[in-house]
Amino acid sequence: MAKWFNNFLVKTVPMAPKFMVGLVAKKYVSGETLQDAVRVIRDLNAKGFTASSDVLGEHIHDLSETELPLEMYLDLTETISSEQIDSNVSLKLTQLGLEIDSDRTWENFEKILVKIKEQDNFLRIDMEDSALTDVTLEFFKRAKSIYKNVGFVIQSYLHRSEKDIRNFLSPGINVRVCKGIYKESPDIAFQDPVKIRENFLLLVKLLLENDGYAAIATHDLIIIDACEKYIKSNNIPADRYEFQALYGVPIHNTLKRLVSDGHTVRIYVPYGKDWYPYSMRRLKENPDLAGYIFKDFFNIKSK
Ligand SMILES: Cc1cc2nc3c(=O)[nH]c(=O)nc-3n(C[C@H](O)[C@H](O)[C@H](O)COP(=O)(O)OP(=O)(O)OC[C@H]3O[C@@H](n4cnc5c(N)ncnc54)[C@H](O)[C@@H]3O)c2cc1C
Repeated sequence: MAKWFNNFLVKTVPMAPKFMVGLVAKKYVSGETLQDAVRVIRDLNAKGFTASSDVLGEHIHDLSETELPLEMYLDLTETISSEQIDSNVSLKLTQLGLEIDSDRTWENFEKILVKIKEQDNFLRIDMEDSALTDVTLEFFKRAKSIYKNVGFVIQSYLHRSEKDIRNFLSPGINVRVCKGIYKESPDIAFQDPVKIRENFLLLVKLLLENDGYAAIATHDLIIIDACEKYIKSNNIPADRYEFQALYGVPIHNTLKRLVSDGHTVRIYVPYGKDWYPYSMRRLKENPDLAGYIFKDFFNIKSK
């Protein structure tokens, strides 16, 4: 389908009925319930993938809105153990109240961290927009003093990221490297895709050269290829890194090949009722999807 048409669809989708956007969501979200997430993760595990599960939701307006995600995260952590599925947990601090009250957010976060520790699992703190970078890294530092199996995320579009990684470098430090998804000003963030890619590779190498653990989160085949070459030529052991991708992004063949070549591949599996903003972001990242949805929509109608 023509690019201009897909771009046109992306611009008009926000005006579309929610059920139509739901057709996108189906590709990116495991479902609305924890049972949906368990089913998807079990299926991924059977295919050789590990997972990171995330309860959908972010910016909230009232602290009472943190109660549900908190319950859901505690339940998720418990269920990962009881169902014996292979998954860790990712979360966004804004969902726990970060933009409203940092102390209350810490209280919420600590409850989840303690549960993760009890279950001997791993907790990844997602990175949000640049206004929250410092406070998120502070949360990570504090969390690390309580439990070692916690990691943060660094965005290769931010100028500051190399310095941030250097500040935290220590053996076993576990960092997810991604490009970054928020709109950031040229004063603080690279805008050129080539620069963002170069910085991504620099950050991964920085981790791997300094006994860190690199979680390489990208669908960019050039980066994946460059990392594979670097790992191979430097004999980096398989327990020092992993590749990560978002559930539903159409790079299955590459992911399957990575698994069959012995690399760990973790799929980010979101679930929950709050699928709308997440799916809209995914759609903006890949306008071609709008064309697929359009086709799906008419296939459904013509059945
Ligand atoms: C596991 C994981 C966790 C992440 N966590 C964070 C986080 O905590 N904070 C943050 O700011 N960002 C996060 N991101 C998002 C990341 O920053 C990028 O915005 C996103 O991954 C797109 O960049 P890319 O590296 O895949 O490269 P791109 O150059 O954007 O994409 C490479 C190719 O993949 C396709 N593609 C990329 N994304 C999608 C998509 N969603 N759907 C369909 N096709 C797609 C593109 O069309 C292109 O063909 C995460 C990404 C992943 C994979």
